Amino acid sequence: MDNLFCLRCNSEIEAGQKSVAVYMFAQTVGVRPRQKSSAQRICFCPQCSVSLAMGPPPEGALNAAAWQMMRELVGAHPALNEAAWESLRGNVGLFLENDSEDAARPTGTGGYFEF
Ligand SMILES: [Zn+2]
Repeated sequence: MDNLFCLRCNSEIEAGQKSVAVYMFAQTVGVRPRQKSSAQRICFCPQCSVSLAMGPPPEGALNAAAWQMMRELVGAHPALNEAAWESLRGNVGLFLENDSEDAARPTGTGGYFEF
């Protein structure tokens, strides 16, 4: 099984690691023979999932559709938020272990996101 990467931040998502997978396929309608494309799997790490869901709607119909799905998941249950929070704490410990003031502050202003 090949390893996957978060589409937004490109961090590696190992098998069994918490993440969000977006499956996408295309299918013909009203056309014979009916055709169906293979499915693409797009992955987001918990931080990016939450970040995207909390952010403003992105440009583009496909991006907006994915954004709506993220909002649905993130809004339905705090599990994803907790996973993002846990990994954020892990990263903060790695990079800023000697500066607790900065560690408490989220990095980046997060205005606009791209899929
Ligand atoms: Zn990510």
